Amino acid sequence: MAALIALPLLAAGPARAEGNFPSPGGTTNTASILTYADTVKELEKIEATSRYGVDVFTLAEAGTAVDTSEQGRNLYVATVGAGPKDVWVQGRIHGNEPYGAEAILSLLKDLGTNGSPEYKAIRDAFTIHFIPMYNPDGSELNIRQTVLWDTAADAPRTDANGRDLIVDLNRDWVAGKFQARESLAFYEYWTLVDPDYGIDIHHQGLKQQYGTGDDVTLSLGISLAPGGPTLPTIEGGAYDILTRQMHGYVYEELEDTGFITMDRYQVGNSLEIDIKGGVVSAMMLGLNYQGLNPEGHSNPVVFFETSGNTSDGSLGQKARGKSIQQNILAMRTLLTGLANGEVQQTDPEVWEEIPHAPVTGYSTDYAGTIPVTP
Ligand SMILES: [Zn+2]
Repeated sequence: MAALIALPLLAAGPARAEGNFPSPGGTTNTASILTYADTVKELEKIEATSRYGVDVFTLAEAGTAVDTSEQGRNLYVATVGAGPKDVWVQGRIHGNEPYGAEAILSLLKDLGTNGSPEYKAIRDAFTIHFIPMYNPDGSELNIRQTVLWDTAADAPRTDANGRDLIVDLNRDWVAGKFQARESLAFYEYWTLVDPDYGIDIHHQGLKQQYGTGDDVTLSLGISLAPGGPTLPTIEGGAYDILTRQMHGYVYEELEDTGFITMDRYQVGNSLEIDIKGGVVSAMMLGLNYQGLNPEGHSNPVVFFETSGNTSDGSLGQKARGKSIQQNILAMRTLLTGLANGEVQQTDPEVWEEIPHAPVTGYSTDYAGTIPVTP
């Protein structure tokens, strides 16, 4: 690890508060949702019982300069596999989106114990860095964001109007931001790993598949739209092709799975997203923050969105098992296809076959909505 100084830059910009803390919304019974303590306990159990070298550690043990959450919780990573390529898999960057953590723990356990050829192929190809709970404070609060914390006072930091400072960790990997400790900690860890691929797991609202009206269970997304304003300009267009292949492969492999109904992730009915501040976008853009990524390392990343979340009451407990299972299947399928080269053989045009509304524009975090020019 390079010598570095990474003081938390506590931005003085306008508050992003969305109400005062604590304000976990909704009426969903969260008793069955995995807690931070559950997650740590499960990680330790998996490490102790694995047959194939699961290594569980904190970012403090990894040696990052900033190494805890805003409220001082340890940030956990688990690695498995001994392959030459590194894969970054993150869940629960949004605290009220729980199933990324549960799906990651389940897949980690399988990769650590299952001797079948499929799992062995994944372990032989990759070293996977699983981050089951990127946002432990927000998870404990059952909120999307996190709350910036005054450690000395053990209370939320507030803006000039006395409102709590709340940050969406998935908009915080941006030069001039990095407001939360989690962002500095995981960004530095990313620069130590220099992954080859990434997967990011989220939840969304309920939606229907374009054309059929069927309830969507899983949306396949890329935070910088293929063919959009940004992605074709990166690495000579390599990620514009590879991300389409990654999701195209998952779509073709899982489209006949009865309990999964897929589409492309879109917002406002017909907009693709082109969000440069998203964590995985910053990875694709090769962000060099505080000189920690001088070589401009970058890597392609795709995300999975499960329908429903825990703070608006839309996540039915009936769907819990299937919602988790579809994420496990999607991750395992993608890892297998990347390991055996079938992803890289997939026709990128399959991306167009994944159900989606005709695209009318790009929703960006840097230029509003950019209409598609006919
Ligand atoms: Zn999310």
